[in-house]
Amino acid sequence: MPTVESSRRVTVFALGGTIAMTDPGGGTVTPTLSAQQLLTAVPGLATTGIEIDTVDFRHKPGASLTPADIVALAAEIAAGGDGIDGAVITQGTDTIEETAYLLDLLHTADFPVVVTGAMRNPTLAGADGPANILAAIRTAADPAMQGQGCLVVFNDEIHAAHRVRKTHTTSTATFTSPNGGPLGYLTENQPRLLNRRPHRPTLPAAPVGATAPHIPVVTVTLGYTGSVLRALAEQVDGLVVAGFGAGHVPADLVDILTEFAATVPVVLASRTGSGSVLSATYGFPGSEQDLLARGLVRAGYLDPLKSRILLHALLGLTADRAVIADAFAVAGGYADPDSWPWPDHLHED
Ligand code: ASP
Repeated sequence: MPTVESSRRVTVFALGGTIAMTDPGGGTVTPTLSAQQLLTAVPGLATTGIEIDTVDFRHKPGASLTPADIVALAAEIAAGGDGIDGAVITQGTDTIEETAYLLDLLHTADFPVVVTGAMRNPTLAGADGPANILAAIRTAADPAMQGQGCLVVFNDEIHAAHRVRKTHTTSTATFTSPNGGPLGYLTENQPRLLNRRPHRPTLPAAPVGATAPHIPVVTVTLGYTGSVLRALAEQVDGLVVAGFGAGHVPADLVDILTEFAATVPVVLASRTGSGSVLSATYGFPGSEQDLLARGLVRAGYLDPLKSRILLHALLGLTADRAVIADAFAVAGGYADPDSWPWPDHLHED
């Protein structure tokens, strides 16, 4: 009797990364393997019965992928979406925490988009690519993943794109979700969600524009004077401040940040890596309360990299500061989801 899986259909888009890297002869590895070659190396894939199509979309290290690549990928996924139950993306792990979140914002269909990669390239003992691909395909094919947006499947864990971070340079357990943990796991090859996303905000259109907005992430450090910031004035379209703790900067930085916030959106995130930026606990100059009163936008639970992705996508759609603030309030987890500026694009589970 056919299993649920055997009637499922998944498209695999290969973008490059360590998972596809081999040594052409010089002792170092570069992306060479095609999507089909990646699948051939996966033991047990054929017995799942899942019907798989492949697309060789890019051949790049994760570091060279661009937002334009991901916007084009989202469009291709949408165009080929009829009749598939899920999409799998294989790519370099270096940028998965950003690409997956951008895909999550742009992917409006119910079927899941599952991103994976590898930490050990195919020439190494214990290469993790084949296991990650099998887990990603099983997850993408599973009916329980419908409505969950973009997921990152790695090391038998299922992470939500808006929370996942790369936290180790070499470990195969590099992906973690410091805010809330993984959504689920693969156990004996079966994907299982222990938590579900109750709602998922997406954007009404992909960001447009010939040039990408210039949005530096400025990490505040002990004794930071803002000299680089001053040099950037009038050259940026937006700014993300990775502040201390719950959203703090040195008092001497307050004036320059206030000047920036008068002309471009300035998002206040935390450099700590987890937890939310606060809003009303500390009152010293340079505290979160002081900066928000001066017009900075609270990132909430979004870390600086996710904040930058969201601001990039928003700036491609609108210059309206109130809309940008409302979007951050929902995406950052500190406002009612119903206040998402595009109610038709708030997907309820
Ligand atoms: N170390 C990276 C990877 O895991 C290289 C890249 O992002 O392409 O794939």
